[in-house]
Formats: sequence, C-alpha cells, structure tokens
Amino acid sequence: MKKTTGQNRDVTSQWRLQTQLVRGGTWRSEMGETSESIFMTSGYAYDCAEDAAARFAGEQEGYTYSRLRNPTAAMFEDRMALIEGAEVARSTATGMAAVTAAMLSLVRAGDHVVSSRALFGSCRYVIETLLPKFGVEYTLVDGADHEAWQRAFRKNTVAVFLETPANPTLDVVDIEFVCGLAHDNHAVVVVDNVFATPVLQKPLKMGADVVVYSATKHIDGQGRCLGGCILTNKILLEEKILPFIRNTGPNISPFNAWVMLKGLETLDMRVERMCGNASKVADALSDIKGFDFVKYPGRKDFGQHELAMKQMSMGGSILSLHVPKGREQAFKFLNALDIIDISNNIGDAKSLITHPASTTHASVAEENRLEIGITEGLLRLSVGLEHPDDLIEDLQRAAYKAGI
Ligand SMILES: *Cc1c(COP(=O)(O)O)cnc(C)c1O
Repeated sequence: MKKTTGQNRDVTSQWRLQTQLVRGGTWRSEMGETSESIFMTSGYAYDCAEDAAARFAGEQEGYTYSRLRNPTAAMFEDRMALIEGAEVARSTATGMAAVTAAMLSLVRAGDHVVSSRALFGSCRYVIETLLPKFGVEYTLVDGADHEAWQRAFRKNTVAVFLETPANPTLDVVDIEFVCGLAHDNHAVVVVDNVFATPVLQKPLKMGADVVVYSATKHIDGQGRCLGGCILTNKILLEEKILPFIRNTGPNISPFNAWVMLKGLETLDMRVERMCGNASKVADALSDIKGFDFVKYPGRKDFGQHELAMKQMSMGGSILSLHVPKGREQAFKFLNALDIIDISNNIGDAKSLITHPASTTHASVAEENRLEIGITEGLLRLSVGLEHPDDLIEDLQRAAYKAGI
C-alpha cells in the first residue's frame, strides 16, 4: 500500500472540504487504482513468524485481523476524521452500533448520564433501557431548557448524550452551552450529528468530545448500506472506546465502508441540493393553510431558528409537518402521494416520508412520545434530490385529497 497525499494530515487538513471529501484518507495499492480498493478480507498473512509476532506486539505497522482494522474501513475512518476535524475515527456496522459502543465504553455501574429527551427511538432505548440494565442511571431533559440541563448534573455524571436537530421533532440543543456545563462537571459530551451531517454542523468545534453518525443516512445517501462512525480525540479512543470495540466487534463490512467512501465524494453536493429543495418544499407547504404547522430549521418562523442557524450552515434536509385530524388523515395524506415514498429512512436521494408515532417511535411509550410532541398528526419528510416542483406538486395533490 502506498501513501497518497490523502494520508498526509499536515497537507490534507489545509484542503477545502470538497477536496477532503474526494481525496482524504486515500491509500493506493501497487496497482495504482484511482477508486479505493475493497479489501474484502478477514485476515492477513505475514512473510514470517517474526513479522506476525512484531505486528501483534505493535512494533510493526500493518494489519492483523479485520475486527481490529481493515484497510478499506481505515480509509473511510481517515476521511471521516479529516472532514469532521477529529483526531481519530472508528467505523461501525450501523449508526446504532456507534451510539451503543460510544455510550457503553464511557460508563460503568454507578455512573449517571444526562441526555436530551427528544431522541431517535433506538437512542432513547440505549439511554433509558440498556444503560440501566448495567447499573447506569440517567436523567432526560428538555433540550431547549437550560435550567433543566443545569439541574440534571450530579456528582456521578460522566457523560452527556444529545441529538440536534432531534429526530423527528427537529428540536435544537445549544451544543456550546451544554458542553460548557458538562465540562464544568467533568462529563464527556457525545453528539448524534446525523440530522445535520458533517457538512452543516461541527460539534467538535463547539466543544463536543465525541460525534456519532449513522452513515446509513446522508453519507451513503442512496439507500444502499448500513454504517456508522465514532469520531473523537486520541485519548478517549485509546483509553475507552478502542478496548470496547476491538473486543466486542461492531465493525462495518469492508464493502459497506467502500460504499460510504464513494458516498462521501458527493456528500457536500447532495446535502447542499437537498437543503435547497427542503427549503423550497417547506415554503410551499407553509402556504397550505390546512396544516397545523410546518417546521423547518431554515425558516424564520421556526421556534429555534436563530440557534439552528448559529450551529448549522443551512437548514438541513428534513422537515416536520402536522395534519389536524390525527392518524387517519396522516395515513390518507401518505397514501395519496405518488412520488414521495412512505419510508422511515432519511438522507436519501429519494424523498421519503414517515409517520413517526406508528414507525420510528412506535416503541416509545405513548406518554413519552406525547411529551416530546410526537403526536398522531405528526409527519417527518426527508427531502431528496428530485426536482422540488415535482415534490411540491405531489404534496399539494396529496394534501387536497386528504382534505387538508
Ligand atoms: C438512523 C439514526 C440512527 C441509527 O442509525 P442506523 O444506521 O439505522 O443504526 C441514530 N440516530 C439518528 C438521529 C438517526 O436518524
């Protein structure tokens, strides 16, 4: 394997984002391939027994076993670390594997975790159900309530978890404020940055210690593969996260890592176009008087617009809307759409819409759903790369058919 300039952090960190997305982290084999190679291998052979011993002792550079590291996954990790501005990254099989590995490696029985309440359903499971099984206590707070954050910390608080904007309510958390508070209390902050993507928001710059992604979403961006990533500093990685993931094995497949590498090459273009489309769709939906509300962080009428725009360079690709007559009307509206698919994924080239109360958040108890505003009339729309006018016409037609 030959190092390309893509591997020289002194050089690549000076590159602009678009160059980093295309060339960061690239290694090249003696074949001189332009597209990154897929190293579909579980193990590695050594020239001699001494080399094997030296590699296991950490005295010789190189690979030993793909649970520990794989060259294709390593390229994906190096590119992710570069674009996020993180010292290091490790990839995982899914976004939930990244969340779970990050949280479990930071806590032990007797510790306490603080988390924003508006979370993706499975993230909420990790905080609320999984951690307590191992003796870890938690406090959930309204992410916008600064006093609630202040009150939540205890002597044994070791970690904070937050999602911003949150799935599917789009609630925004002030990352800098929470990080300041957490660090005063010697706690580590983990930010789920899936909705914002690495293009729009940089939590590490705002003080976060760990950023997690579901690469399944915008990073793949074409609905093909599952994947995830954990980004952090060297100390946290080596002391806490690496021992956990090396021994428990939540690894991404080399093939999926390769798909993600290819996805990164066009991430900036896609996210920018999606944000532009989402903004146009949000404006058009806001003109339909029958919806109770249309929430889009990029619009001035979004409750936390100022904070959202302070933290993100654009409004994102996801919006939420609310029909007045509950589930029946929500389903009627979904069923009347011709172009937009009923699907619970996000960040895809194809526009996708879902009814969170009956899908992504069906496993969250009803009272907990209502507490964060996931009511029967709520819909989440992930805007894709189609022409925005076709999407707008599809939504207008469906709204008319559903009596909105
Ligand atoms: C999808 C998603 C996840 C989980 O990612 P998977 O790749 O599906 O495991 C975590 N957090 C948020 C905000 C998500 O949207």
